[in-house]
Amino acid sequence: STPVSMVTALASAARNGVLVKGGAFLEIPATLDAVALDKTGTLTLGRPAVTEARPFEGVSERELLAVAAGLEARSSHPVARAVLEHAASRGVAPVAAQDVRSRPGLGVRGVIDATQWTLGNARFLAESGDAPESPELARALAQAEASAGTVVFAWSREKVLGCLSVEDQARPQAADAVRRLLAEGVAQVVMLTGDNPRAAARIAAQAGVTDFRAELLPEDKARAVAELAASGRRVAMVGDGVNDAPALAAAHLGVAMGAAGSDAAIETADVALMSDDLSKLPWLVRHSRRALGTVK
Ligand code: ADP
Ligand code: MG
Repeated sequence: STPVSMVTALASAARNGVLVKGGAFLEIPATLDAVALDKTGTLTLGRPAVTEARPFEGVSERELLAVAAGLEARSSHPVARAVLEHAASRGVAPVAAQDVRSRPGLGVRGVIDATQWTLGNARFLAESGDAPESPELARALAQAEASAGTVVFAWSREKVLGCLSVEDQARPQAADAVRRLLAEGVAQVVMLTGDNPRAAARIAAQAGVTDFRAELLPEDKARAVAELAASGRRVAMVGDGVNDAPALAAAHLGVAMGAAGSDAAIETADVALMSDDLSKLPWLVRHSRRALGTVK
């Protein structure tokens, strides 16, 4: 193709809400063997809701939500938004927390009234090993293990306040986009997520993705992409979060959700989907082939 047609193809991609950062990246989609997609905010709407707040015995729902919301008050993670919205809907104000740190793929930890509190998943709980054990906690962990949602616990060294279940939904275009990617000849579509395997399986089923890897930290997502690429495949990674930037950088083609995506993901990406519309992925593969003259 001539440079002129490449410029035309870039302009037409932009008109379709697909921002491609240079002609070189317009040539890659035509040759993709594998597309890896982040789950939360990419395959899903990234607007999870709290489906259950379960205070442990002797704890009020108000106490559980005040601490959980206090820890999440400054986090932009989808789980944090769900917790804050739920607390607000129950009229519970977040308590003030200091020194709050978020741990990617695990949760948040901070200090409330001189006590360290954590809101995080079962993995974080197991890794920290600092929550008091009880039959009630063991039961809740077993139920979390069996649930198809995301379950986060609130605890300190002295006390477990309870747990919250959070559920997200696949984007409406996800299943069709995945089906069309496969139809366009992309051999492998895989979902990468920091979430637990059951929550991952539920969203994968909604999106028609048969291949997924769960409980990945940001560096694990980057490694998974690098491994796909090392086996000789041409790989695209699609993500939205700050934590997806390493994986986007590891792919031949990094694609960011342009509207819901974090600045870090959009900066790192080679392509941004300005309307967060996943159907633009198979469209881009086809558009790339057209630009290269490999299809009419
Ligand atoms: P994904 O890979 O699906 O986009 P993340 O890696 O961002 O998800 O998060 C994975 C898991 O880590 C979440 O499902 C949740 O259990 C936990 N987690 C991450 N951040 C937070 C937070 N701010 N509050 C509570 N839990 C969190
Ligand atoms: Mg995400």
